[in-house]
Amino acid sequence: MTKLINIAIFIAVLTAFALTGCKAQQPVEVTDYVMGTVLTQRIYGGNRELADHVTAQIRLLESQISTNIESSDISKISRAAGKSLIETSQIELIELSKEVSEKSHGAFDITVAPITKLWGIGTENARVPSKQEIEAVLPLVGYENIVLKDGKAGLTKQGAALDLGAIGKGAASDLALSLYKEKDITSAVVSVGGSIGLMGRRPDEKSFKIGLRDPFGSANQHIAVLLLEDISVSTSGSYEKYIEKNGIRYHHIIDPFTGYPAQSDLVSVTVIHKSGALCDALSTACFVLGYEKGKELLNEYGAKGIFIDKDKNIYFAGNLDNIFELKQDSGYRVVSR
Ligand code: ADP
Ligand code: MG
Repeated sequence: MTKLINIAIFIAVLTAFALTGCKAQQPVEVTDYVMGTVLTQRIYGGNRELADHVTAQIRLLESQISTNIESSDISKISRAAGKSLIETSQIELIELSKEVSEKSHGAFDITVAPITKLWGIGTENARVPSKQEIEAVLPLVGYENIVLKDGKAGLTKQGAALDLGAIGKGAASDLALSLYKEKDITSAVVSVGGSIGLMGRRPDEKSFKIGLRDPFGSANQHIAVLLLEDISVSTSGSYEKYIEKNGIRYHHIIDPFTGYPAQSDLVSVTVIHKSGALCDALSTACFVLGYEKGKELLNEYGAKGIFIDKDKNIYFAGNLDNIFELKQDSGYRVVSR
């Protein structure tokens, strides 16, 4: 059941368009299921062995950072909260998470785990928790409680826990690109759910075309095309994972200050930056922050962004000239660039 739901989610918020009219070598194309979502790889000049190696390495990363895997470093850190520090190979990712938490003033916060666990959105146990339940665990949330020391990580408060769900897929896409590079690949596309990594350009020297999904449409409906090369891109949307109760929709991006789904009038945020992990973290942060503050945050990182609100208005952060092509009759309008 979960698998089905997740495959429906995969769908790519962003879709790398198939190449047409290109005489260059046929790429190897592989699809797998990892990190609760779909992993697709298209490697030009690569082979199946490389794709399988990348999948295996991403599964290894998942085994280290997943909250659903008891033996993961992240689960160990959470169990040891308030007691001890745990040695982990994922220090850099936790460090980057803490940095984005600081720069976003807590809008992005990987210590949001006690809250995301209560809601369980995206799992079979999804439900709307009571106000009391939320208030009881809210004091456990706070990135200041993350301790990093001598290759070890920990949490100062007992009961606190980590959730890398908002950065892990971007980190996985970075990992894939680094492994392609080791094999001297110069052109490839990897997507892990809504996080896409692009290596170089298409073999015909053109930019890759990435479809920006219609937040109100089905998975294969796009409102715009992004022309990109040698970069990463990630989307966070409220339409991805949600539950409904009494006619109210509760999505999976939490405002760590309230413990409830973020209410910023946005329906999706797409971030473009060299680092896939940063794109992933920043798209979640921006969804919580809203356009004005989100734009400031993206400026700090030299990242570009596309914010879409519930009235189908599109707002840009950074210069998207020659990158963003709105589809005619999309029903959306760019109101701020
Ligand atoms: P997706 O998982 O659909 O790619 P995101 O990258 O936006 O979407 O990450 C959302 C996930 O991150 C949630 O499912 C939850 O596990 C976690 N999360 C939710 N809100 C926050 C937040 N404010 N900061 C950090 N992580 C969050
Ligand atoms: Mg994210």
